Amino acid sequence: MAKIAFIGLGNMGGPMAVNLVKAGHDVTVFDLVETSVQTAVSEGATAAGSAGEAASNAEVIVTMLPAGKHVRSVYTDQGSILDSAPNGSLCIDSSTIDVGTARDVIGVAEQRGKLMVDAPVSGGVAAAQGGTLTFMVGGSDSAFAKAKPILDVMGKNIFHAGDAGAGQAAKICNNMLLGISMIGTCEAFALADKLGLDRQKLFDISSTASGQCWSLTSYCPVPGPVEASPANRDYQPGFAVDMMLKDLRLAQDAAQTSGAVTPLGAQAAAIYSLFSANGHGGLDFSGIIKMLQGDI
Ligand code: NAD
Repeated sequence: MAKIAFIGLGNMGGPMAVNLVKAGHDVTVFDLVETSVQTAVSEGATAAGSAGEAASNAEVIVTMLPAGKHVRSVYTDQGSILDSAPNGSLCIDSSTIDVGTARDVIGVAEQRGKLMVDAPVSGGVAAAQGGTLTFMVGGSDSAFAKAKPILDVMGKNIFHAGDAGAGQAAKICNNMLLGISMIGTCEAFALADKLGLDRQKLFDISSTASGQCWSLTSYCPVPGPVEASPANRDYQPGFAVDMMLKDLRLAQDAAQTSGAVTPLGAQAAAIYSLFSANGHGGLDFSGIIKMLQGDI
């Protein structure tokens, strides 16, 4: 069993850290929010007073933080993870952040004698609790091989996407596609309603025809056809609009930096941005159909 430091015990990190404890690992935790630390301690983790202190004795350091600036600071600030973690230790950053920061921080970690992967996740809080996350991993073969048994405890599908930053690239490409396909699916239902076409009939036909996609068949944005959809729970998340917006903005930043042409990704970011600005950032992202239909 490994000595693991876990930094960032929010909605996702909290249950992920608990799964590592339950698997028998020796887990030391740190978060800025004391109650989150105490929850992890009540499940068998040990509290540390800072990220650097948690990492000082660790073989593996896992971080689950909000954004790139937090990741850069928690790794590279004086006295923090890269100063204190033992040489040869493995760092796993599972936050969803920009590709540039992921590559930079991994570069610094390697210069300072650590192995490091970016390993963002797909799947929400339920998957974090159930240990069924999908991990998209970027980094060297040796870092991936060392990370895999740890990620297996927290996830069900572990993909080695490529070199440093490739995990973040996979995550934003996937979520840009998801945001676009959800808006397209919502527009199809909005048009069907105007044309008097029964929603269930559109679902039955399109889910076996060329319009088939995950947003339709697994996460249908209208109540009825798919029992598990947030549409059946008044669009409670699920995957919140503001989370989707964050990923769409990361995709647009990456498109601008790399020169990729993504006009529909830009439109999706603008549409979700408007929905969020109207006060609906906490709704599930499939709730965008309500804006397209003029309901909210
Ligand atoms: P969260 O805001 O609930 O948790 C982030 C935690 O990091 C908080 O507890 C915060 O106190 C802590 N933190 C911030 N700065 C810190 C610092 N300097 N030192 C120590 N702790 C610090 O966020 P979350 O929902 O757990 O998401 C975490 C990451 O996972 C994000 O990048 C998010 O985009 C991604 N993600 C979230 C979901 C989801 O459904 N929530 C799904 C997939 C990916």
